[in-house]
This record gives sequence, C-alpha cells and structure tokens, in this order.
Amino acid sequence: MSRYEAVIGLEVHAQLKTRSKLFCSCPTTFGQPPNSNTCPVCAAMPGALPVVNKKAVEYATKMALAVNCTINKKSLFARKNYFYPDLPKGYQISQYEEPLAEHGYLDIRIGDRTKRVRIVRIHMEDDAGKSIHVTGENKTLIDLNRTGVPLIEIVSAPDMSSPEEAVAYLKELRAILIYLDICDGNMQEGSFRCDANVSIRPKGEEKLGTRTELKNMNSFRHVFKALGYEIKRQIDVVEDGEEIIQETRLFDEAKGITRSMRGKEEAHDYRYFPDPDLVPVEIKDQDMVKWKDELPELPLEKLDRFMKEYHLSYVEADLLVSDKSIANYFEQVVKLYNNPKEVYNWIQTDVLRELKEKSVTIDNIKFSPENFASLLTLVQDSTISLKIAKDIFPELFHKGLDPRKYVKDKGLVQISDDSKLETLVDEVLAEFPKEVEAYKKGKKKLMSFFMGQVMKKTKGQANPRVVTELFKKRLEQ
Ligand code: ADP
Ligand code: MG
Ligand code: ZN
Repeated sequence: MSRYEAVIGLEVHAQLKTRSKLFCSCPTTFGQPPNSNTCPVCAAMPGALPVVNKKAVEYATKMALAVNCTINKKSLFARKNYFYPDLPKGYQISQYEEPLAEHGYLDIRIGDRTKRVRIVRIHMEDDAGKSIHVTGENKTLIDLNRTGVPLIEIVSAPDMSSPEEAVAYLKELRAILIYLDICDGNMQEGSFRCDANVSIRPKGEEKLGTRTELKNMNSFRHVFKALGYEIKRQIDVVEDGEEIIQETRLFDEAKGITRSMRGKEEAHDYRYFPDPDLVPVEIKDQDMVKWKDELPELPLEKLDRFMKEYHLSYVEADLLVSDKSIANYFEQVVKLYNNPKEVYNWIQTDVLRELKEKSVTIDNIKFSPENFASLLTLVQDSTISLKIAKDIFPELFHKGLDPRKYVKDKGLVQISDDSKLETLVDEVLAEFPKEVEAYKKGKKKLMSFFMGQVMKKTKGQANPRVVTELFKKRLEQ
C-alpha cells in the first residue's frame, strides 16, 4: 500500500451542438472545406462585432442545471489574451470573474460506492481554429472553421482520488451532455476534451500538493493511462527526495507516458479583462423556468427507474442507460414484449455484438422495436426455435426485415408435428444402435446427441421439447 493518495481535478471542454457559432451566424458543420465556415466576425476582421448565440446560452444553462449549479442571472464575457496562429483575434472570448454557473456537483458511481464530486464552475467560451502541420513541408496551414464554435468549460474541484474515479466522472458528464442533446460527446473528434490536474499528498494530509496538468488525451483509456503513469511518476519523484514542478505535461500515446510541455515560468499571462464588445449575458426567469422544465430524465434517474420498474440489476441497468439510444430502444421493445430480462439479454449479447461488428449505432438500425418484439414472440409461441431466431437475427437486424414474413418465406417455422418428428426420431434410433444401447445402460448424456441428430435433419427447426419427449417415450418403454 502506498503512503500517498492522488488528488485529481478535471477541466472538461464540451462543444455545444448549436447550428451556428457562438458570436456569428457561421455554421458549425464538421468536415467542410477549410475556411469555408467563416465570416468577418470569426475571422477577426477589424470592426466586426460579436453577438451572443441564444441557443448556446440555453444549452450551457441546461448543463449547469443538470449538474446542480447555481446559475448567475448575469454573467460576463472576458477576453483571455494570448498569441497563437489559430486564434485570429489574439484573444479567446471566455468568462472569468462572473461565469455562467457555479457551485454544482455530480454524483458518480465506482463499483458499489457513490461519490460526490463538486463542480466549481461552468462557463462559456469560443473555440480556436485548427493548425494543420503539413508533413514533409516546413509550413503550417490554418483552418478557421472551428474558430468561434461554442464550448462550455466544466471545472471540477480536486475531489477525485484515482484514475477510476476520474474516468467515472468523465463518463457520467459525457452521458449527461448526450442525454441533454447538447454535445455529441465525440472524444476522437474533440467535441469532448479533458485536461487533468493531478497531485499527490501523504495520506491524511489536508494540504494539496503541487500539481501538474495533463493534456492530449483523446479517449477514456488515455485519461486512465496518463493519470496512472503521472501518479506513479510523482510518487517516485517525492520518494527520491525531489520536488514536483508545476508544469503542463503531454500524454504520449505511443509510449504511455507523460512528457513536460511547458513549466510555470512559460505559462501564459492571459491579462483577462471584460470584453467591451459584448453586453452581459442575462438569463430571464421565464427562460430559466422553461429550460428547467425541458430537462429530460437524466442517466442516474433513468438507472434508478430501470432497476425498479424492470427489476434489473445495477450492472444491467447501467449497461442500457450508458447509451441513451439503447435505453430508448430497450424500453420500446419491452412495451411490446413484456419480458425485460429477456430483452436485456438479447441487447447485451446479440444487439451489442452486431452493432460492434458493423461499427454502427442503434440509431442507424432499421430493425424497429416492433420487428424485435415480433421476433421474440415467434420464439415464445414456439413458431421458431431460439436457435433459428439467433441464427437469422443478424440479417433481420441489419436489413430491417419483418421476422414473421421472413420466417414464412424461408420455411423456418418450427416443426412440432408429432408424426413427422416421430419418423425422424425412429430414423435416428435406427442409425445409432450403439448409442441407444449405451443410453439404456445409463449414459443419459446421450440425449443431447440424439437431439443434435434430429436438429441436423431438420436444419434446427424441430421443436426441442417435443423431440425430447418422443425420445424418452421410445427409449424408456
Ligand atoms: P487554473 O486557474 O490554473 O486553471 P484552477 O484553480 O482553476 O487553476 O484549477 C484548475 C483545475 O485544477 C481544477 O479542476 C482544480 O480542481 C484542479 N486543481 C487545483 N489544484 C489542484 C491540486 N493541487 N491537485 C489536483 N488538482 C488541482
Ligand atoms: Mg483553468
Ligand atoms: Zn463567422
């Protein structure tokens, strides 16, 4: 056991899914030709004036409400000055002294324990552009399409004490953003990014140690690895009798380590000051009431309800709820086929496997909840065997076919007809006299062998219950 504990505080940037940018009407569409989504405001032409996007304020406020923040009725935009080629204004418009929201919290779950992580503040800001370094050529190109896209920054208190907790917090935060439908949560494309501040201290110590800030992690796995590495590195430094230096470190994905990027001395002095071009953001009471009202059921609430209403375990409910679309799909199927456990099992195995196999999400799937319920009903009323259902599922699922029609057209209806099955059972008994002998001497396991033979003859269409009965009747008379 280590004598040290880790202290982690996270700064998350989430790109808001508004149609236009934060201070101009340029579209936010991803993947457009470079510099096509630009105008005098976001390209920072002198004299162009910003006007705040009301939808962005709504989205940011909804997030703040969802994580129990106090909303400041009046908040201010400030200029955060620094020089970088992808920042044409020479400053980022952010919020500093009076942010949109403060003093929230998020309850996270790690295994069977719950923990409250305080949220210090949530503020709005605009995104920078993108530098493209051309390989083999000594030049950098600038794409301003992303410049001015609305972001919210969500700053946690240093309340997490392990990489597991940090990842649980991030997953929960991301799920909420997706439930609110205000951010697509794509870490690969950078619509959900995280900087991790981490320090260590001897267990029992209250005073915070010197922290480093980790950047460049674009998946939960990277965050987990970077923190694990960094905590160990800091412990080694302290154990060697040396001091932690406050600095920014980059995660090196290939090596799984963090490397110093810049020290405290090279840190920017942002010279924040209120932006004279923008009026304070004021939130009207009537808007606040409306937005509060529009908040959907959030992941944790849904989780609780799924456990109660459908009698699912925590792990089962969590699996469904961690993806909003899967949770909806599940509920729609259960409405039509009232066996939550069975629907859960299909989702957990067959559905997730198929989605993964074809790298698609349930939203792209044409196989409707009605189709799904009808497939399960076909098994339940013994029209087809479970085996057949599982076999035909991938095709039905990806092509969005009607199971009832498919089964009929392909002649897959289960054979329950006694006389037909009797003939097959007799055939099998005649073909395998040795096995019959062995069975009669007590090798009861052979029943599944006999069953397998009938299934082979019927391509899996025999009703297993009827076949078992027929064999028993024959073998035990
Ligand atoms: P800055 O102004 O440099 O961004 P903040 O005080 O706003 O610094 O903190 C940024 C983040 O760092 C917050 O998420 C906070 O919880 C975290 N943090 C601050 N001090 C520490 C520390 N000693 N160890 C770990 N995290 C810390
Ligand atoms: Mg900060
Ligand atoms: Zn613009």
